[in-house]
Amino acid sequence: MAGIGEVINSAAAIAKGMGITFREMLQPAITEEYPDAPAQLEERYRGAHVLQRDENGLEKCVACFLCAAACPSNCIYIEAAENTDQVRFSGGERYAKVYNIDYNRCIFCGYCVEACPTDAITHGHGFELASYDTSTLIYRKEQMLVPLPEGGPPPTQHNPAPAGAVGKL
Ligand code: SF4
Ligand code: SF4
Repeated sequence: MAGIGEVINSAAAIAKGMGITFREMLQPAITEEYPDAPAQLEERYRGAHVLQRDENGLEKCVACFLCAAACPSNCIYIEAAENTDQVRFSGGERYAKVYNIDYNRCIFCGYCVEACPTDAITHGHGFELASYDTSTLIYRKEQMLVPLPEGGPPPTQHNPAPAGAVGKL
């Protein structure tokens, strides 16, 4: 009897599997036309990083180094500098004068994004990073920073300090 039960179970499993196969056969084919058309990526896709600005156009990064500390690949390099009343780049006391990510080493784990207290660094959807020249895989701040809006104020120097930031200078 156990043998007959096994046969029945196996037949049921095969029928179930074939049912899925036939059902999928009736679905319209989905063909990605990449690279002729943009790739369709999920919202949560972790691509090349983007350095964000706040609502005043200031850089969100305040050079706290937490992302670099969290990075398991040790691929984030930051040099911090002080904002002044005359020259202000971020809303905090400091800004990242240099911010590099070495994509030769980055494993797109997202730890840097998780660690950032100001949501300054996020993952974008850029994925076409391949290169025959590894030196081009060290991305600089200027390549990752969100551009200022068209017709907006010139980069940072004349931006007003956001509320609450003046007293901290
Ligand atoms: S995604 Fe991971 S490996 Fe890449 S820079 Fe961020 S923490 Fe480092
Ligand atoms: S990106 Fe975020 S965590 Fe990294 S230094 Fe800037 S503010 Fe700190």
